[in-house]
Amino acid sequence: MAPKIKRLSFCFVLILAVIGLVFLFGAGIMNKKGSGKIVATNFAAFDFARAVIGDSSDITILLKPGMEMHDFEPTPEDIKKVLSADLFIYVGGESDVWVEKLLNDNEIKKENNFRMMEFVSPLAEEFVKDTKEDEHAPEEKDEHIWTSPVNAVKLVEAVRDRLIGLYPEKEQIFTKNAKIYTEQLKEIDNEFRDIANNSTNKLLVFADRFPFLYFTHEYGLSYFAAFPGCAEQTEASSNVIASLVGEVKGNNIKTILKIELTSDKLAKSIADETGAKILELNAAHNISQENFDRGVTYADIMRKNISVLREALKNE
Ligand SMILES: [Zn+2]
Repeated sequence: MAPKIKRLSFCFVLILAVIGLVFLFGAGIMNKKGSGKIVATNFAAFDFARAVIGDSSDITILLKPGMEMHDFEPTPEDIKKVLSADLFIYVGGESDVWVEKLLNDNEIKKENNFRMMEFVSPLAEEFVKDTKEDEHAPEEKDEHIWTSPVNAVKLVEAVRDRLIGLYPEKEQIFTKNAKIYTEQLKEIDNEFRDIANNSTNKLLVFADRFPFLYFTHEYGLSYFAAFPGCAEQTEASSNVIASLVGEVKGNNIKTILKIELTSDKLAKSIADETGAKILELNAAHNISQENFDRGVTYADIMRKNISVLREALKNE
């Protein structure tokens, strides 16, 4: 009898172990679907999904930390991930024309697709007056929709609804997580709005690219920038430099702005000529590997921007 009992208890232990393993590996959000994942193109898309889900273990970000968003080209491996995703979250502007191609070829199914620009009101890209060659370009929608915290709230809520549709068993947790995050974003929005409303200066001067159209629009601010949108950065022409210096001096601007992950060469030359100081307003295109590993969020980046905005609008 002894060996049989032994074999039975061995079987029992084995079954327990299998149940344990299934439980462990099934703990992710896709335990019902098995093969799927959430794939996000850029940092904002990743951040909003992470906030709703509560962790990032089921989310893949295509844009590697530290990389320039507008230089992104998908690898065949990236395309494979996109095509096998439960949900593919992307912005849907100029940087994502490769996605439109996959959609047109019916390679991505509509139901697996989340185009962020559909959930906010897109604004037409604006150009600086000096870039004559752009005057005849067809109107494009500016893709930096996430730079407005008001849009960020809408996007988090839309991602939440979509994820609940995919994983209804997670409704409570997704609803709770989204509420916590959108409350943070609304506080940030209130801070920006207070600063803008209480400042007599409404002008921001960017010695850099300009990804903040949605941000300045939201808070009733005006801007002057060296380069339109995030167009391919070229050397600033002497006209552009002269205009920037003129704007800074003429409006008594004490702080000029640059954005994240770009050179500060132009900002430094404008600062040298005007005595203005340079601060960085972070558009959250992407974050460094170090900050990514630390779990820095879009909300963290925007909180840092609060003091920058306060400083940049002071002109006395
Ligand atoms: Zn950009």
